[in-house]
Amino acid sequence: MNKEDFNEGLLGFLDASPTPFHATYNMSMMLENAGFICLDETNTWKLEEGKKYYVTRNDSSVIAFTYPKTSNYTMIGCHTDSPNLKLKPNPVIKEHGVVKFGVEPYGGVLLNPWFDRDLSLAGKVSYLNAKDEIKETLIDVRKPIAIIPSLAIHLDSKANEERSVNKQTDISPILTSNEDFEFEAFLRWQLEQNEIRDVKEIYASELSLYTTQKASFVGLRDDFIASARLDNLLSCYVGLLAICSVDGDTPMLLVASDHEEVGSASSSGAAGSFLENTLKRMYPDYDDYMKMIRTSMMISADNAHAVHPNYADKHDKNHSPYINKGSVIKVNANQRYASNTTSISRFMNVAKSLGEPYQQFVTRSDMGCGSTIGPITATRLGLETLDVGLPTYAMHSIRELAGTEDAYSLYKIFIGWK
Ligand code: ZN
Repeated sequence: MNKEDFNEGLLGFLDASPTPFHATYNMSMMLENAGFICLDETNTWKLEEGKKYYVTRNDSSVIAFTYPKTSNYTMIGCHTDSPNLKLKPNPVIKEHGVVKFGVEPYGGVLLNPWFDRDLSLAGKVSYLNAKDEIKETLIDVRKPIAIIPSLAIHLDSKANEERSVNKQTDISPILTSNEDFEFEAFLRWQLEQNEIRDVKEIYASELSLYTTQKASFVGLRDDFIASARLDNLLSCYVGLLAICSVDGDTPMLLVASDHEEVGSASSSGAAGSFLENTLKRMYPDYDDYMKMIRTSMMISADNAHAVHPNYADKHDKNHSPYINKGSVIKVNANQRYASNTTSISRFMNVAKSLGEPYQQFVTRSDMGCGSTIGPITATRLGLETLDVGLPTYAMHSIRELAGTEDAYSLYKIFIGWK
């Protein structure tokens, strides 16, 4: 696959995946197309050597693996979730002549960029059908149905100097001036769009707002990719294409987990048991399992802060990654990143042999440092782990920016791994 096709496919994946549920669904479909066999955690597994499999949990996390039954797995870790505004269970607020949604920020949302955006809604809905069975389905409204208008500068003359955003009162999107609006009727209508008509009652939903602005190339020479959810669907896509490019005899595993942005502590998050449970079913013999663990390597792929040209002093001068200058190896003395000498040198060696560039990132010593699923996975499973990421501006904004060179370069490193 060439870089142009790779990047075009990336834009399509970003637009089609407004929530972790949709990302997991789209990844599952792409895995099916590449010959991966779907496993169900509630059934007995009969794995066959040389075949390729995938399994999902909570419809929001997915693990795909080849099964050569050797050790030495290249594992790629990433996360399906991104910061966003989630609807509260009883979201409808009617006041001042409009209907609004009550929302709760999910993860570390950069809130200011959410104002004055055309927003839509997507997620998972559960309902009782005519046979009294509880069913779940994904919905995606697709068209802009809501907006969070800014307060005009005339009503807040200090807006540019000192405006802050209150998470409870300032970010409710408005969706209509028709005060007859009923949330349940709205959801029923959405289910009808999916040909689901036998709905007795709607029970629960996990719905997120998202921008309807499509992912696009930006820059004089299409230097950049601007999109929502680059953190971390960018890495999901790179890992997915890598594992879809190898045959069943190449030991590779991809784990894309939900809930990284809120600490990974959930049944489908990286601090949960999903990966460990799956690996133990792949290697039921404990000795084989431990040999596989200790000969394999986890590459935790998550976005890295590129040095912002207008705020360059936010970076350590010797560790300031640039966009389009290669993958970023992330290091932290306090183990917020899991990279160590062994895992770093393996990555450098592969990148060097392929002629692919790499950079290094350490946060300023007087600033806090983010973390990733890397240290969590290393701690839980004892895997040798590397934290690597693609240089990004505006992380956790509703529109992040990455380079058109870097993702394809990391993909080449993954498929050239040895
Ligand atoms: Zn991330």
